[in-house]
Amino acid sequence: MAKNNRGKRLYKIPSRGRGTCPLCEKTRIKLLYPYRTETNELLKVCKNCRQK
Ligand SMILES: [Zn+2]
Repeated sequence: MAKNNRGKRLYKIPSRGRGTCPLCEKTRIKLLYPYRTETNELLKVCKNCRQK
């Protein structure tokens, strides 16, 4: 994993990696980290929530 979430690469994903974090509900934050919930759902969360 070499800097997957930096620079131009962000522009390739829909909405350029930004959205509302499902955990902290902060809007227009970059959702860069995949997070698997207990129900095996894959969510994208912001950097603040990646440790949870
Ligand atoms: Zn968050």
